Amino acid sequence: MMPDVSETKPRLLLVEDEAPIREGLVELFISQGFDVDAVGDGLQAVERAADGGFDAVLLDIMLPGMDGLSVLTHLRTRSDFVPVLLLTAKGAEEDIVKGLENGADDYVTKPFGIHELVARVRGLLRRRIISASEPQRRVTIDDGAVFDVDQLTVSRGAEIIKLTARECSLLGFLCGRAHRPVPRDELLVNVWGYRDGSIQTRTVDVHVQQLRAKLKRVGGANWIATVRGRGYRFEGRVSASEAGG
Ligand code: CA
Repeated sequence: MMPDVSETKPRLLLVEDEAPIREGLVELFISQGFDVDAVGDGLQAVERAADGGFDAVLLDIMLPGMDGLSVLTHLRTRSDFVPVLLLTAKGAEEDIVKGLENGADDYVTKPFGIHELVARVRGLLRRRIISASEPQRRVTIDDGAVFDVDQLTVSRGAEIIKLTARECSLLGFLCGRAHRPVPRDELLVNVWGYRDGSIQTRTVDVHVQQLRAKLKRVGGANWIATVRGRGYRFEGRVSASEAGG
C-alpha cells in the first residue's frame, strides 16, 4: 500500500487492554507505515497522550480502571483535539453515541476487519490535513446568523454556539452545497476523509443530530433537512458575511 498521508510516519497511540489484540494491532499499523505507542489502560493513555505529538488515537472503550470514554473526556477537557477513533463492543449503541457526543471522531465495532480499521484511521489523518488547510471564512445564514469557520462558532445576536472541528466541517460542507441533497457517502469522503464512503456507519447521522440540536439555539433548527434515501440538504439562505463586520 502507498504511504499517502505525509512523508513522515504518522504517530498512533493505541489503547487496548487485551494483549493479543493490542499486539496484533501494533504489528498491523507498523506494517502500514505508522509509529505506534501502545498502552493497556486508561490512566497510562491519559499520561502518554499528554506528551502530545500523536496524529490519532485508537481507543478501546472497555478498559480496566479508567474506561475509554473517561479518557476521551479527559483529552477534550484539556483541549486536546487529537482525532480519536473508538473501539466499541458489538451492540454497545449507547457507548457509541456517548463517545461521539463527547468528541470522538469515529468508531469501529468489534470484531472489525483490519482493512476497514486502517482505512478509518487513514481517514482521520487525511481529515486533519484538510482541516489544517481550510481557509478562514465567515458567512451569514438567514440574514441574522453568522457562521465563523475560523472561530468554530455560529452566532445570532448575543447567542453564540461553539462547534467542534468536525461539526464545523460538516456545516461548512453542507452550506457550500445549499439546496441540494448531499449523500452520506459524499460526507464521509469529504468531511471524514474516507477514501471509500460506502462504509456502513451511523457516524454521519449522529453528528448531524448533534449539530441540529446546537443550531436550534441560533434559529437553525430547520437548516439541515433529511432527504429520505438521499442524505442531507442545507436549507438556510447563505450569503457572504460583511467584511470585518
Ligand atoms: Ca477492552
